Amino acid sequence: MKTSSDLRSPEEPVALGKIILVGAGPGDPELLTLKAVKALRSADVVVYDKLVSPEILDFVPTGAERIFVGKSRSLHTLRQDDINALLVNKAEEGLVVVRLKGGDPFIFGRGGEELDAARAAGVTVEIVPGITAALGCAADAAISLTHRDHASAVTFVAGQRRDLGNQNWRGLHGAGRTLVVYMGVQDAGIIADKLIGEGAAADLAVAVIENGTRKSGRITRTTLDHLAETIAIYGIASPALLIIGDVAAAAQARNKPLEAVSSFHFALAAE
Ligand code: SAH
Repeated sequence: MKTSSDLRSPEEPVALGKIILVGAGPGDPELLTLKAVKALRSADVVVYDKLVSPEILDFVPTGAERIFVGKSRSLHTLRQDDINALLVNKAEEGLVVVRLKGGDPFIFGRGGEELDAARAAGVTVEIVPGITAALGCAADAAISLTHRDHASAVTFVAGQRRDLGNQNWRGLHGAGRTLVVYMGVQDAGIIADKLIGEGAAADLAVAVIENGTRKSGRITRTTLDHLAETIAIYGIASPALLIIGDVAAAAQARNKPLEAVSSFHFALAAE
């Protein structure tokens, strides 16, 4: 392991640490990029989140330090400031620090905050993008987020309670638009009401993808007015993504025909 040392001889180069912000993709380890695997193999320290699949950590060398920094709505294992400081301190020790995040680091991943902290400290940062949940889940449900006949715009929105009040829902739906809501399953009823209040059709199609790209994945198709009810009936929980718009009407599970559960919702196993 590379560490800085006071006993270094004058001709020995100073070990230069760095932070690599790595997107781990939406769950399926095969959706990692080759660059992500390369970064994981080079790690001295890996700092990872709750949404990172355990199989992905198999690419980390046995000797490397693994630090779980958690994060769920209720439990923050480490505060963001502490995570930033941890990354910077480890890199300043001369270590290769992989900051591994679910999906893409820059889509609702606080990668921007970690990048700012690293820059402020003068630490080198590399960025490895990942497949964000919207793309993984859309592929899982065979939904084309844009489509020449149905959607020429797609928007990613954070749907957690803290952001709901500030969010302007007016411009986000409408003909030819696809809306993808992250972190919205808990308050899906509020989101549906806000969209309907802004003029969205009550029977607008919604696909709810829970644990997308994972073996435990489930895809449910419903409409805006039945969204909260569908989530309650099926016990759908985080991580889950809402895809709202005409394109969601075509939602299907991989290799599975649609099975009608009732007139308004269909539940499908992804595998
Ligand atoms: N940086 C991540 C998003 C982090 S926010 C990315 O780019 O994907 C966390 C939210 O992402 C979850 O609440 C959920 O809405 C969504 N999400 C992440 N992984 C998911 C998965 N496998 N299936 C469904 N939704 C997922």
